[in-house]
Amino acid sequence: MPFEVREFPEFSWSFSRHKTLLTCARKYGYEYYASHNGWLYEADETAKHAYRLKKLTNVPLAFGQIVHELAEKAVRLFLKHGYVMTEAELIEEGRSMLNRAYLDSRDRKQLWMQKPARYKMLYDMYYKGELNRLEAEDYRGRLHVVFANLLNSRSFQDITTRPLSMQFQQAEEFRFMTVDGVKIFVVMDLLYRDLDAGKWVIVDWKTGKEAENDRSQLALYAYYIMQKYKARVEEIEIRNEYVLSGVNRTYQLMEEDIGLMLEKMKQSIHIMLRYQLDMISNEPVEMDEFPRTEYRQRCETCNHKEICLAQ
Ligand code: SF4
Repeated sequence: MPFEVREFPEFSWSFSRHKTLLTCARKYGYEYYASHNGWLYEADETAKHAYRLKKLTNVPLAFGQIVHELAEKAVRLFLKHGYVMTEAELIEEGRSMLNRAYLDSRDRKQLWMQKPARYKMLYDMYYKGELNRLEAEDYRGRLHVVFANLLNSRSFQDITTRPLSMQFQQAEEFRFMTVDGVKIFVVMDLLYRDLDAGKWVIVDWKTGKEAENDRSQLALYAYYIMQKYKARVEEIEIRNEYVLSGVNRTYQLMEEDIGLMLEKMKQSIHIMLRYQLDMISNEPVEMDEFPRTEYRQRCETCNHKEICLAQ
């Protein structure tokens, strides 16, 4: 399908969109509207600027992304070639990816300005000109821990020690479903059927600490499986693998959990729709009408402060 340039972005819902709106509606406006088309060469500077800031990352986020990419690679290599990556290989690749993010930020700022999706720019390097050394060292040290835990995790062990009783679903990058006419993005880390247990298993790798909404995020994924594969909720197991602590949490959801999650999602969509001027085109209201957060300490670490606080 040819790439279509739209004047306004398509409206869709995802957990990350919801979290952004909860953090600050103005930030939501920058990320989901002002930056639209900012990746196009011919876009105006305002959109390009907002898009660049949206693409800024930080050490914890870059670390999480690297661990996810390498977890996906480790699973793929096993499924395709029966090869189990070693801890040393994972650490080495992780270290070089972290280093690349640092070098991009330090030496390739011009390239990042032109192609912010292709190069990395770390928040501290952009706004302060240097990294927080202690934080960077801390995350470098975590590579050992997370990859050892990843290889020993229940999910990875399931895959590598019982491959015959596992059936894998294709890891499509953009899974989505439609609820009440709204496109809902569902990005799962790993999904398989445990044929012995007769269950679908949805796995989410977590590189941070346990959080309250980790479970409700997985309820959305469970709903997707119910819709797409006509599975019953009792046939679905959801699992968070906390690779920093080595702990996993496995849940069996009930119909009520799904109902609750759907209700929350619909409320969230309802709030988002207030920022639309036009329902069909998804043209947004003026940026001034996206209120700034009352919690001004959030501005200190916000990617968009350069634009927002200057206005
Ligand atoms: S700088 Fe503050 S008010 Fe502005 S978008 Fe960021 S968090 Fe919101």
